[in-house]
Amino acid sequence: MKSPLFDAHDHLQDYPSKAESAEALRLAAEAGVELMLCNGTSPGDWEQVLDLAAEHKGVVPCFGLHPWFLRESPPGWLEGLESFLVRVPSCVGEIGLDGGKNATGLARQEGVFAVQLRLAKRLGRPACLHCVKAWGRMLEIIKEEKPGPFMLHSYGGPAEMVAEFASLGAYFSFSGAILDAKREKLRRSLSAVPAERLLFETEAPDADAPGWRAGPAGIVEVVSAAAVILGRPAEEIAALSWANGNKFVGDIRTLKNGNP
Ligand SMILES: [Zn+2]
Repeated sequence: MKSPLFDAHDHLQDYPSKAESAEALRLAAEAGVELMLCNGTSPGDWEQVLDLAAEHKGVVPCFGLHPWFLRESPPGWLEGLESFLVRVPSCVGEIGLDGGKNATGLARQEGVFAVQLRLAKRLGRPACLHCVKAWGRMLEIIKEEKPGPFMLHSYGGPAEMVAEFASLGAYFSFSGAILDAKREKLRRSLSAVPAERLLFETEAPDADAPGWRAGPAGIVEVVSAAAVILGRPAEEIAALSWANGNKFVGDIRTLKNGNP
């Protein structure tokens, strides 16, 4: 593809070693991936995310407390989070709600989520959101908190909710799951997203779709699959997601050392 590529969501710190993440990034660069959002999930990995972004141009760090890891949040985690955010231009994420079986009570999740959305808004940072089986509450909290730009990563909500989320400023990111022809509901959601809010991601190092290259280089296959579903040339979808990704990251690039 001629257009540079944008990977809207990955976790490079989860590679078993630095050598492996470096190799994945080398392959990604070869495939034309020039920008990606590397998401931290708990205080235990923020330092690694910071290092990866410092070592690799094009890796934008994101710091947040993911709903799966609420038990790993020591007292003072929120102040810790802010101190990472103000050190470098960065986004808030991965944060959100998870109504699935591994998560702690939703009430606690909602408090932790809302407080991080407020921090993102106060610092003028885009937010990368996780949501599983909690779409109604997600919508209510977004309406209450009115954050700045936010992305619903690996969007799995109904197609019918896309327009309302979009009106509140949402970007929607789709993963390699769209490669699965059986995921009709997901493919309908993809088609419902306004062109200017469309993003794609790999969730690297995970790669759970057949035919999907592991690592951020796999964004090539995700974009190609989306192009087929949308009936557009792959080049056009690649250019669109590159433009949207840059718009999403947008303002934080004008920050100096993370400070406004
Ligand atoms: Zn993730």
